[in-house]
Amino acid sequence: MRTVNAYGAVNATDPLVPLMIERRDVGAHDVLIDIDYAGICHSDIHTVRGDWGPIAYPQVVGHEIVGRVAEVGGAVTRHRVGDLVGVGCQSNSCRECTQCLQGHDQYCLNGNTQTYNGIDPADGTITQGGYSQAIVTNEDYVVAIPVGLDPAKVAPLLCAGITTYSPLKHWNAGPGTRVGVVGMGGLGHMGVKLAVALGADVTVLSRGTKKRDDALAFGADRYVDTTDVGALRELRGGLDLIVNTVSAGLDISRYLNLLDVDGTLVNVGAPAEPFSVPAFALIPRRRSLAGSTTGGIPEIEEMLEFCAEHGVHPETELVSAEGINEAWDRVLSADVRYRFVIDAKTL
Ligand code: NAP
Ligand code: ZN
Ligand code: ZN
Repeated sequence: MRTVNAYGAVNATDPLVPLMIERRDVGAHDVLIDIDYAGICHSDIHTVRGDWGPIAYPQVVGHEIVGRVAEVGGAVTRHRVGDLVGVGCQSNSCRECTQCLQGHDQYCLNGNTQTYNGIDPADGTITQGGYSQAIVTNEDYVVAIPVGLDPAKVAPLLCAGITTYSPLKHWNAGPGTRVGVVGMGGLGHMGVKLAVALGADVTVLSRGTKKRDDALAFGADRYVDTTDVGALRELRGGLDLIVNTVSAGLDISRYLNLLDVDGTLVNVGAPAEPFSVPAFALIPRRRSLAGSTTGGIPEIEEMLEFCAEHGVHPETELVSAEGINEAWDRVLSADVRYRFVIDAKTL
């Protein structure tokens, strides 16, 4: 057991504070990672603030983790001391169910282990995430970071990147597909860059015009201000696939109406409030409403290689430990361009 510095929540409402947390001993199949960078995901905030239900405190969040392997267990074969590696949202799973056997540990039928606020199968404790100096993770849930990706920018790929890459791939985004991305925050801006790199025709749907220039600079073909009712009406029936990344409740029918026949709206945003779906937003054009979560380890590895090959990287703003609470406030007010990354040296 070792004690490491972290930044975490002691209840649902107060600002995060410096904490000391324990990391388990490095088991035979474990890797100890000295964390260099950890991204700030809106899910961290939903979790701590109790948006998805009550949790136990203290809780250290963070599931976009990048660092160097500092120690490996005796049976580890996948990683070596000194390697640059990452940990995302899942840190373990049953490995036996039909989903795990296909590499889809994110859909483990027996319940996977979330990197934070999960139950660690190794010792039964509540898992604590990446806003910390070091983490011990089973080697099979640690991914190698390919050469060519900037270590200071790569962390957000481990949640924001894979969560948008996976549905884009599953629903065949590519040349000839008209893709819309709703909300351009951490997930949304990765969705735009990835859909562009996949060769799709990309429309960004965001409130106001503040993000228009950025969207076009990321390669989007067009930008639609969602507060402009006329512009939305013009886009009706014009999209094949929509990825909704909005963190708050939304009138989903406005966006379903943008789908062509057989189009799909994939929701990845996870607001506390339920959506209301009028039957006639789906029926007339045989539209689908779907959901998707993160991606399994093989798909994360594929996505990292894709980003290295196509030069896709997140837009990041580095913050120190003392800046985390202000960064959270800025995420909540949609004032993030486009992902905060914590410099773990400052913890
Ligand atoms: P984020 O950086 O805060 O981005 C969310 C975006 O939603 C904002 O930039 C904003 O876009 C839009 N938005 C926020 N409040 C809104 C409101 N009241 N009305 C309309 N639009 C609003 O958050 P994120 O880290 O990308 O995460 C987005 C959501 O995905 C969160 O709910 C998160 O928990 C969830 N998530 C899900 C998964 C999964 O596995 N499915 C994984 C990670 C995250 P504009 O300013 O451009 O309009
Ligand atoms: Zn996340
Ligand atoms: Zn499983």
